[in-house]
Amino acid sequence: MSLDRLWAGWRSEYVGSVGAEDDRGECLFCGLVASPDDEALVVARGAGVFAVLNLYPYTSGHCMVAPIEHGADLEALTPDVANALMEMTQRAAAAIKAAYQPDGLNIGMNLGRAAGAGVPGHLHMHVVPRWAGDTNFMTTTAEVRVLPESLPITLDRLRAAWQE
Ligand SMILES: [Zn+2]
Repeated sequence: MSLDRLWAGWRSEYVGSVGAEDDRGECLFCGLVASPDDEALVVARGAGVFAVLNLYPYTSGHCMVAPIEHGADLEALTPDVANALMEMTQRAAAAIKAAYQPDGLNIGMNLGRAAGAGVPGHLHMHVVPRWAGDTNFMTTTAEVRVLPESLPITLDRLRAAWQE
């Protein structure tokens, strides 16, 4: 199995937008920032950051936390935005735990195309609930995903569990 295949599940957000990441006008995340919350599947907005559901979740509850301002480089974030990004990631983790009671969480960033970023021009933190038995193997080799609920339901559950 190639590494590309191995990481397919992790980097599969918004396949249709890949290639437009360096054009701010077509950037997926900038487009989501500018869209109504329900349409963009935005869970929460904060000071300089926002949390949004992944349109192609790895597991139910998979969301992403991103700065509102377009940019690819973690080291370029101001301390305020970097702190807000981590605080919102903490809130996302707490909401996912409260709503889904997962066995674990994957939290992290893919920075750059070579690292597996689907939208490398606009950095974003993945917060992915995991269950014993949800198995990377199933997703990455067979492209089988076990998604017991629709995205609007996920949106409602995470918003309800979100603590400001
Ligand atoms: Zn952007």
